[in-house]
Amino acid sequence: MTEIPVTYIELKQRCTKQMRLDICSGCDKCGLRCANDVPCSAEEWGELQAFIAAMNPEDKQELERVMAQDKTVDLGDEVTVELCQYRDMEAGRCMVYPARPLVCRLLGHVEWMPCPIEAIPTRIQTSDALELMRSYAQFERRRFAEWKSPA
Ligand code: SF4
Ligand code: SF4
Repeated sequence: MTEIPVTYIELKQRCTKQMRLDICSGCDKCGLRCANDVPCSAEEWGELQAFIAAMNPEDKQELERVMAQDKTVDLGDEVTVELCQYRDMEAGRCMVYPARPLVCRLLGHVEWMPCPIEAIPTRIQTSDALELMRSYAQFERRRFAEWKSPA
């Protein structure tokens, strides 16, 4: 697996410190943005798989139940969207929240993906967030399904 450069780790820490995750705790108002094509790096995919592997049997069973749910959401006017395999459609939660990839973490906390209910009063400084994304861009990123079944 690619070694993660220190600068990326530092940038991520710098941005994380600026995030008001306390406000997000227990909120699911941006759940519709949990799209099924979220990209992640190989490192993030590995962390996500490690998180799942460390789950207790009950949680693993619950995850399997969630992954088998229909993820289709009808937006009306014959428009439907498919949500992420890890989203619990009944409880409105992310089953892998502690191991979610960067894009999921930034939602609601950066200028270009603001909180849809305007509950977050302060965002990550855009210069810091952009620097983080530039650094993140050096990694190969694929959708979950692509990491699961590489072409
Ligand atoms: S970003 Fe906004 S809508 Fe999303 S979880 Fe946080 S407070 Fe809720
Ligand atoms: S990993 Fe979690 S937060 Fe990210 S899109 Fe999937 S359900 Fe949403």
